[in-house]
Amino acid sequence: MITPLVEMDGDEMTRVLWQMIKDELLEPFIDLKTEYYDLGLKHRNETDDQVTIDSAHATLKHGVAVKCATITPNAARVEEYGLKKMYKSPNGTIRGILNGTVFRTPIIVKGITPCVKNWKEPITIARHAYGDVYQNVEAKLSAGDKAELLITKADGTTEKKLIHDFGKGAGIVQSQHNVNDSITSFARSCFNYALDQKKDLWFGAKDTISKQYDHTFKDIFNEIFEKEYKEKFELAQIEYFYSLIDDIVARIMKSKGGMIWACKNYDGDVMSDMISSAFGSLAMMTSVLVSPSGVYEYEAAHGTVQRHYYNHLKGEETSTNSVATIFAWTGALRKRGQLDDIPQLVKFADKLELATKQTIEEGKMTKDLALITSMTETVTLNSHDFIVAVRKKLETLI
Ligand code: NAP
Ligand code: MG
Repeated sequence: MITPLVEMDGDEMTRVLWQMIKDELLEPFIDLKTEYYDLGLKHRNETDDQVTIDSAHATLKHGVAVKCATITPNAARVEEYGLKKMYKSPNGTIRGILNGTVFRTPIIVKGITPCVKNWKEPITIARHAYGDVYQNVEAKLSAGDKAELLITKADGTTEKKLIHDFGKGAGIVQSQHNVNDSITSFARSCFNYALDQKKDLWFGAKDTISKQYDHTFKDIFNEIFEKEYKEKFELAQIEYFYSLIDDIVARIMKSKGGMIWACKNYDGDVMSDMISSAFGSLAMMTSVLVSPSGVYEYEAAHGTVQRHYYNHLKGEETSTNSVATIFAWTGALRKRGQLDDIPQLVKFADKLELATKQTIEEGKMTKDLALITSMTETVTLNSHDFIVAVRKKLETLI
């Protein structure tokens, strides 16, 4: 029995690329067995978003999914697609069901040089996606107000702490929370992914200043590492390294890269943008959602490239970069091959990645890369011709 790969189709320009990738790069070469879910906005609307929930449960069942970028509806989209309601972000829904952590990794090719010259290996960012400032409660206070933290214990007793007495003038206050279960899941996902990738794991927080809050992150990571992962890390010859967040930032800048960097929610939000722009382009960034139980969902980090899609609809030529979407497929196929012990599939994934990189390194690329490359002789290809160029390269490797 062959386990199917869960396929989540999506929207706009990436949906167009999705089909081209299947037609040109996958189906001619492998016997592709997928369980197909159409997460295109039209079909999400027809199913009251049930298809998103079903696709996430299928991922839990089968273990590996590949996802195309999807529209997160806003007011304009509700109008454009005549939606019954403003559905939640599919990625948010899937992440909620898988309880996972997102790992984002830049794809490095010669000719697209990172801004930081000593970065030779990709830096993977893992962002904790629960709590902190994203689920905060905040208020503006006037002069004379007083802000206090009131904790009502399970037994009904209370504990009150003064935050600040605004007697002398107006100000602001903010409260944040997190839960140990979520931090624990985050830690396990990070340790598992580090083992999966055979890469060091770095984690930084501000435990010296935040002796209860950030220190709890440090303690939970440490406890889980000592109990469950220390020996496995030694066997895999990788390291878990904790330090203050500022020290981590300083060391990352001077490193040659190659590590997985676990970040608290806000740090991950900010640092992932820094890493993707420093490595070149959002279109060269892959993303994988890993659940603490070891379920994987692969996708590109960018969105549906709406502007290009509208040009495409008008019949204009587009030059949209399909690399991150190709790598979402190769990531998923490789993982499926590893889990099911199909070495040919793992090899195919490796070759498709190599073909994609070599195509660019030979100077054939989409417009976004042509604008930033250090290569002098390049050919700018349209969306379809780039994929065809990768196919030609792949044929020479197989
Ligand atoms: P986007 O699709 O990431 O595109 C923003 C801009 O970045 C594009 O207009 C383009 O710049 C450039 N770009 C991104 N990917 C590219 C690629 N593969 N090749 C070439 N250029 C690329 O973000 P958006 O336009 O803000 O969002 C569009 C839709 O995507 C929204 O409905 C949003 O909800 C959705 N979205 C989905 C996901 C997801 O499913 N994971 C993530 C983010 C956003 P130029 O226009 O300058 O060429
Ligand atoms: Mg951000």
